[in-house]
Amino acid sequence: MGIILSSAHVHTTHCDGKTPAWEMAEKAYGMGFVSLGFTSHAAQTFDPGYCIDPSKEKDYIKEIRDIQKEYAGRMAVYLGIERDLYSCSDPADYEYFIASVHYFEKPDKTYVGIDADASELQKYINEYCGGDGLEMAKRYFSMVRDYVLENKPAIIGHYDLVRYNDSNLKLYDEDSKAYRNMALEALRDMSETNALLEVNTGGVARGYMTTPYPADFLLKEWKAWGGEVIVNSDCHNVKLLDAGYDRAVDILRSLGFDHAIRLSSDPRKRMWEEIGLK
Ligand SMILES: [Zn+2]
Ligand SMILES: [Zn+2]
Repeated sequence: MGIILSSAHVHTTHCDGKTPAWEMAEKAYGMGFVSLGFTSHAAQTFDPGYCIDPSKEKDYIKEIRDIQKEYAGRMAVYLGIERDLYSCSDPADYEYFIASVHYFEKPDKTYVGIDADASELQKYINEYCGGDGLEMAKRYFSMVRDYVLENKPAIIGHYDLVRYNDSNLKLYDEDSKAYRNMALEALRDMSETNALLEVNTGGVARGYMTTPYPADFLLKEWKAWGGEVIVNSDCHNVKLLDAGYDRAVDILRSLGFDHAIRLSSDPRKRMWEEIGLK
């Protein structure tokens, strides 16, 4: 049994998740979770299979509210969304939102997925970034920064998602100063907000990443700047509700973190609480 006992980043069949929300809650409760935050991909006008259908957003909100009531006093359930930069949903309808950037917008208002098909991303780089992977990464990090500074989300989602396709495409050297500095500069600006930096184990759990997002060098500086972190599973399948958590906790401990943040077990008192890692 892990020590985090919470995830503030969970997908269900309301978007591209494989597990219905009720089943997810039941499993979380059975595992001894103290809190669970549902965060379907917020409604968008494109890529419909991936997000909440805009005409069914109300159904999502209602179902999570029902689950919240059902589990009141036993497990704290929260209504959130993972809101992409290009989503059309209103964050005010939710208790919190995770700010994530999953796409580049092309001039013709079509979108290229960052954690999707590598050949499409390569085409985008060739056409709009002069073939330079580093330029693509720079654009991505500044989009995340601007989005977070303007919208004040609770959580910065999978901050260096741009790593997703890097191993396939060999876009740049992740250890290079140029890459590290651009990632750090944008992160530094965001450390002025109260946003939590997510340690996202979803990629490790699903087997396409060897380490969680974000990379250690980013976590290390974030800590030095006084930033707070939250460990999330970005779970799309009930079997992976806390997958990768032990690994994430080990990494945080090795970087000197003595606590992380999770959704509070008592929503009447506070929304977030500290969890000791020692
Ligand atoms: Zn995401
Ligand atoms: Zn997600």
